[in-house]
Amino acid sequence: MGEVVPRAAWTTSGPIASLARPMGRIERITVHHDGMDEFDSFSRQDSARRVEAIRRAHVNLGWADIGYHYIIDPAGRIYEGRPMNLQGAHVRDANEQNLGVMVLGNYMRRPPTDASVASLESFLRTAMRQHRVSVQRVMTHREYVPTACPGDRLQTMMNQLRTSRTGLA
Ligand SMILES: [Zn+2]
Repeated sequence: MGEVVPRAAWTTSGPIASLARPMGRIERITVHHDGMDEFDSFSRQDSARRVEAIRRAHVNLGWADIGYHYIIDPAGRIYEGRPMNLQGAHVRDANEQNLGVMVLGNYMRRPPTDASVASLESFLRTAMRQHRVSVQRVMTHREYVPTACPGDRLQTMMNQLRTSRTGLA
């Protein structure tokens, strides 16, 4: 798994816990992209800035915090987002007991980097084991609601990861 970047390394702001519900037991995991402009920087600063911009945008919507629990950058680093004891905000009407992980960038046309895919796969493997989530409950955003997220190319990767014998299944 990629290097885990603590929250304090990318923001000085904490979650507004009074605006969030408790998470409870994790029953499912959902994969996203950020869907903004394409992004392939391996710079720690660039990624930290982008995660913080997303947090601010989400807080400006009146949310407790960045919507996702973990964020993966093109270098495969894994950023701690919304604390796991708080319910996320990443799939409308399906946030309950749903761990949200997002890959920075837009994967409609461009495939995610090898480093981010490797990191996502090991993150999912670890989280599935830790929370006893089966591969059937590892979903992408568009499998719940009509959305481009996580992008056609990351969707293809997820389809492969969930079916191949060497993947998550
Ligand atoms: Zn999404």
